[in-house]
Amino acid sequence: MSKRDYYEVLGVTKSASADEIKKAYRKLSKQYHPDINKEAGADEKFKEIAEAYEVLSDPQKKSRYDQFGHQDPGAGGFGGGGGFGGFDDIFSSFFGGGGRRDPNAPRKGDDLQYRMNISFMDAVFGKETEIEIPKEENCTTCSGTGAKPGSDVTTCGTCGGVGEVNQAVDTPFGRMMNRTTCRTCRGEGKIIKDKCTTCHGAGKVKVRKKIKVSIPAGVDDGQQLRVSGQGEPGFNGGPSGDLYIVFRVSNHEHFERDGDDIYYELHITFAQAALGDELEVPTVHGKVKLRIPAGTQSNTQMRLKGKGVKNVHGYGQGDQHVIIKVQTPQDLSERQKELLREFAEISGDIPEEHGSSLFDRIKKRIKGE
Ligand SMILES: [Zn+2]
Ligand SMILES: [Zn+2]
Repeated sequence: MSKRDYYEVLGVTKSASADEIKKAYRKLSKQYHPDINKEAGADEKFKEIAEAYEVLSDPQKKSRYDQFGHQDPGAGGFGGGGGFGGFDDIFSSFFGGGGRRDPNAPRKGDDLQYRMNISFMDAVFGKETEIEIPKEENCTTCSGTGAKPGSDVTTCGTCGGVGEVNQAVDTPFGRMMNRTTCRTCRGEGKIIKDKCTTCHGAGKVKVRKKIKVSIPAGVDDGQQLRVSGQGEPGFNGGPSGDLYIVFRVSNHEHFERDGDDIYYELHITFAQAALGDELEVPTVHGKVKLRIPAGTQSNTQMRLKGKGVKNVHGYGQGDQHVIIKVQTPQDLSERQKELLREFAEISGDIPEEHGSSLFDRIKKRIKGE
């Protein structure tokens, strides 16, 4: 099998700069990445690109290649898992991981999640508050290096700083090369001679950090807020992760919420329902006058426009729905009973549909009466 020229593979000239080579590689490897490109042969093409880049991105290998082409007498050929670095490392930096990682490359810290219990009213109106969360921070004594100030951090000689080594394994199918974590540096890629006494070499310390949180007005149960940069610290100078606050809104004694609307049950007496009345009804915005028309039935819903929750994304304002519950009087006195009997006698009528069987009512409904 004849190998294509590495410059040709990357579509660059022999005089291309390191930057141009890198750019060409990024473009092509994205185009042919097996996760993205499902065309036949994309995988092969991707490997070819990676191999070309592994050589051309390394000044030493590049100069040997320029001199000897594919017939390098020293290295026994290029690529095929022989060298360090290569495509995975660069890949993880622009695909956000997924492959092997260069332990020395800057990486974003992990995201954190925090469940925050808030009251019904704080969810409606929002609030400035503070939380304290357990998290990691870069150790200030060693600035995150893990080494005692003034002592050296050296690149691991076993793995050359990559954190992984190739290991030959004999299998029934032949000798296979395996990549495993470097034991000398435990995958860190570096060796710390004198460990920092504050963090014991970890470079990070556990802290309880106070973070200001502004609960957005109108937030609902289960919604989350991203606090940028308040997650775990990054690696090798990478940015910190983010903190996600998930709100758990507690129930209210009287109000029930559905999206931006609020529901409230108003209990009125039989007399108020029959004669009508004007009442004060509580809302989250304070008391509001509500006129109950004479002859109001139980379960009637009335709407107090704009007395609900302000939409968290700024799309208007919800309403308050008042559900009327008419209470049948209980524990009547003799006098009350007397009056009600008299009332019934005068009324004479029986409520509509009373007396007709369920079957009759269904028949009526079907006929459209
Ligand atoms: Zn190592
Ligand atoms: Zn330290």
